[in-house]
Amino acid sequence: MNSAATTDDFCAAISRGDLHAVRACPKADLHTHGFAKADREYIREKTGRDVEPIKTPLTSMDDMHAWTQANLAEMFAGSQGRALAIEANFVGALKDGVTRIEFGDDVWMVTRGLGSPRELVDSIRQTHARMARSVEWIPQLGLSRHCPLSALQEWMAPWLDLGFHTVLDLSGDELAQPIEVFKPLYRAAKNKGMRFLADHQIRLNICPTSNILLGRVARLQDHPIRKLFDAGVIVTVNSDDAIVFGAGVSEELLSLYQVGVFTAEELDQIRRWGLHDVLGKQFI
Ligand SMILES: [Zn+2]
Repeated sequence: MNSAATTDDFCAAISRGDLHAVRACPKADLHTHGFAKADREYIREKTGRDVEPIKTPLTSMDDMHAWTQANLAEMFAGSQGRALAIEANFVGALKDGVTRIEFGDDVWMVTRGLGSPRELVDSIRQTHARMARSVEWIPQLGLSRHCPLSALQEWMAPWLDLGFHTVLDLSGDELAQPIEVFKPLYRAAKNKGMRFLADHQIRLNICPTSNILLGRVARLQDHPIRKLFDAGVIVTVNSDDAIVFGAGVSEELLSLYQVGVFTAEELDQIRRWGLHDVLGKQFI
């Protein structure tokens, strides 16, 4: 299908609220995490457990961690659990019509005794080749904001030595430590050849449902993504934690239309922004 035909199909699908047709259109998910894109039905099939997503806003990141501990931690623990999470992530991407996805391990995974960074990367690579060859996987290295800088530096070093990851994701509680604390990590990544965007080319990968359910934005209608878009900032819409919040990129796009934040044509522009790296560069 050529891109003009996809645009027509996408706009028509958004306007009539047709989730299946929205899912069928190619799109990117540029902000998600190790287990977070896991498909609920796949998990149910494989484990018999149904993960009921969060419906009402949480009051803090601690609530989020407690929920994750109670609902996912045991299921995704150990080598088998990690393998299940990776498989379920790719299944989730395929179901959502995602043709590019960024996710990967957090640096602390080296402390779990599940293998070296090389082995951990290879296991994702093999699952990707086996289950979702049609999806472009952009390997992301996660950094949790609540961890001390010295620990992050130590855990990160062997991952950087691989020279494999192209994207860093600083995740977790925005209030845990000021952003400046993490500068040395970005410098280290840059020294190892990871590419960075020029200031004026920053694309913001935004996760609206996550922002609401984590209490950062009160209502979808008021999400600052509209202001950013109007100011000419390149934005994308992403799922963050589909298994936790119950919305893939397709649902996110539909919701933004249904509450009147964007027109179908604007959402198509946002969808297309995610499909390519701006100016051919890889972004964080
Ligand atoms: Zn996130």
